Amino acid sequence: MISNRAQAVAPSATLKISSKAKELKRQGKSIISLSAGEPDFKTPEHICDAAIQAIKDGFHGYTMNTGTPELRESISIKLQRDNDLSYDPSQIICTNGGKQALGFSLLAMLNEGDEVIIPAPFWVSYPEMVKMADGTPVTVRTSFENNYRMSAEQLEEAITDSTKALILCSPSNPSGTCYTAKELEAIAEVLRDHPEVNIITDEIYEYIVFDGDHVGILNVAPDLKDRTVYINGFSKGFAMTGWRLGYMAGPQEFVDAVAKIQSQETSAPSCISQKAGEAAYRGDLSAVNKMKASFKKRRDFIVERLSAIDGVKCFKPSGAFYVFPDISHYLGTTTKGGDSIKTSTDLCLYLIEEQGLAAVPGDAFGEPNGMRLSYASAMEDLEEAMDRLANGLADLA
Ligand code: PLP
Repeated sequence: MISNRAQAVAPSATLKISSKAKELKRQGKSIISLSAGEPDFKTPEHICDAAIQAIKDGFHGYTMNTGTPELRESISIKLQRDNDLSYDPSQIICTNGGKQALGFSLLAMLNEGDEVIIPAPFWVSYPEMVKMADGTPVTVRTSFENNYRMSAEQLEEAITDSTKALILCSPSNPSGTCYTAKELEAIAEVLRDHPEVNIITDEIYEYIVFDGDHVGILNVAPDLKDRTVYINGFSKGFAMTGWRLGYMAGPQEFVDAVAKIQSQETSAPSCISQKAGEAAYRGDLSAVNKMKASFKKRRDFIVERLSAIDGVKCFKPSGAFYVFPDISHYLGTTTKGGDSIKTSTDLCLYLIEEQGLAAVPGDAFGEPNGMRLSYASAMEDLEEAMDRLANGLADLA
């Protein structure tokens, strides 16, 4: 009954850890999870109020397939206000999360065998989405020394006659790294020599940037706009993961192709979420900035604690709410019970079993020397988590 397509999709690599965490919790063990990819805040009140009002007003029906004109207009205004990007509302499609904006964009862009360049460590869904759209993911391993950012030279090397697109994610999940304007300029320079390569820029963490302002590829290379798909959403910046609201913007012809796919697959996102999104973008960013300040404090704390652990290397990421320390020092070690720790997955399974600490192995993100820790957790939990990590690693020989 199951298609080749479905069989080719890798099951979620984080599942092993999260099901282990659940099992141990059921057994009554104390578990601290730094594995979630979502803010630990509630959605700001004015956004919730707008949604409640929409329900009371009887705003319950299907909206336009591409989203309400009001939401698309508020996105267009926001893109100009915050990002210096000019998109007509007709060039914007609202989707069920940024995830759907990415998935449908890839379906609208790729033919069988088209290659998509994905710098690693990458967000787990990129390669699987590319495969589901009959494309071929081409991952480019970056280095800890370069804060996990792909260089222009690495991009040049990865481009072939079959390259159809490059996916850029800045700030990055899982590393929290942000490309600088200079690095993006160098990447844009390579892309100018390859006019057949499209760009997908995922800027979903744009509001969580601690050092300087957020910068995307279109800010430094507006001449690439005709072949760039811009992806964003409300989940991360406004703590709205469950509302399922995101969007894409791009060249009109491409947007129309994505709209056709959306019209047959899902139609528009929830009417209530769209009203909430409108309030998010029409309101000020004080709630967003408060969350950001809290993330920054926790980033500084966790980086300091990680750097103090023998053999763990961690740079201070400029954005998102993740750290991705290099734990390669502990690969090839043995536990007190005699088990060998060969991979980051082995290490994370050991940490959850022995210390009740859940983190996501770098293997899941295409970087075997790393491990992702989300610091969107209470400070007490972070303190306890760092104690557990230090103890667990100290027990390895
Ligand atoms: N892009 C990145 C890099 C993400 O980390 C996520 C969520 O984890 C998404 C896109 C999609 O988020 P959503 O579908 O909730 O908008």
